[in-house]
Amino acid sequence: MPTVFLQEELPEEAQIWSLLKALPLTHRRLSRSVDSLPSLEPGIVPGNRMDGSDHKLDLAAVHMTLHGRSIAGIYTSLQIPEAKLCFDCGTITPQSIRMPHLALTHGHMDHAGGVASYLGQRKLLRLGPTTIYAAEDLLPSIQSVVEIWERVQGNPYEVKYQAVRPGEYQELDGKLLLRPYPSVHSIPALGYTLCRTARKLKPEYKDLSGPEIASRRRAGDEVSDPHIEHLVTFTGDSTIEGLLNDPIARSARVIISECSFYGDEDADPALRTNVQHAHAGRHTHIDDIIGNLDQFGCETLVLMHLSRKHTPEEAFAALESRLPAAWKDKVLLFHHGNRAI
Ligand SMILES: [Zn+2]
Repeated sequence: MPTVFLQEELPEEAQIWSLLKALPLTHRRLSRSVDSLPSLEPGIVPGNRMDGSDHKLDLAAVHMTLHGRSIAGIYTSLQIPEAKLCFDCGTITPQSIRMPHLALTHGHMDHAGGVASYLGQRKLLRLGPTTIYAAEDLLPSIQSVVEIWERVQGNPYEVKYQAVRPGEYQELDGKLLLRPYPSVHSIPALGYTLCRTARKLKPEYKDLSGPEIASRRRAGDEVSDPHIEHLVTFTGDSTIEGLLNDPIARSARVIISECSFYGDEDADPALRTNVQHAHAGRHTHIDDIIGNLDQFGCETLVLMHLSRKHTPEEAFAALESRLPAAWKDKVLLFHHGNRAI
């Protein structure tokens, strides 16, 4: 395709903007900040529940940031650049294609349909090898789709396929680990908890000063125990049972949970956004979140995967009126104005 060769002449950033601006109009309307994003660097917007037009949140509790896009049924792909990790690939973004680790929760199109484009862009921009993590039942199908596109393109991608099982940790870069756990959805699905290995001071040393601990360490004492910190859980698509059934997942310092629906049966039954409809599709409703807040140990709860049947303002209003005071500063809504469809 001539434009591909033309794009290779452009600086990397220009290639990405060129790609995005070539997307169909509906994509551009849905992601209204495509034309207004100032740069590809992760410019951070402080966590602000009322500032939902950006696709970025500051996860201060874990010194990380969250980027991406998520609209129920359209696309979900969220990235944590500090971990070089992308959760799901229902679409590609300038940030997502820079992540060498891609963890897929399940095979629905709005979560996995962008994998070939993601790999193709990583190849085109020479961004290096990629590892795709997915359940062992899903992975061969993903690999088949990618292999078809490799044949279509006449060009193999640099990709490693890593099957994962619930509870088995996968090593990412540095001290970071990825722990899958079972989600509860209409097809087999996983959630993931991003973890970090650390060392925790043994209780018998906790009253010693820094120099005293250093002295003991130099003398050969083992002053700390290995420890795994549970940093960020990403639920993918799931009913609330996915979190409730997994104590590690729900103990993470940041939980990114789907919350697709906020509707009330009495207010507008025709919209099909009430709790019964959410559960019928194996999704989460705001009632499920509000009713189980005491189960979560997190410092920040990010709600994503908002249905296009709701405006962000409706979701904010529901959260404002229903969240207990202690949770109002802990809950962030991840959205980007998804009424325009
Ligand atoms: Zn799904």
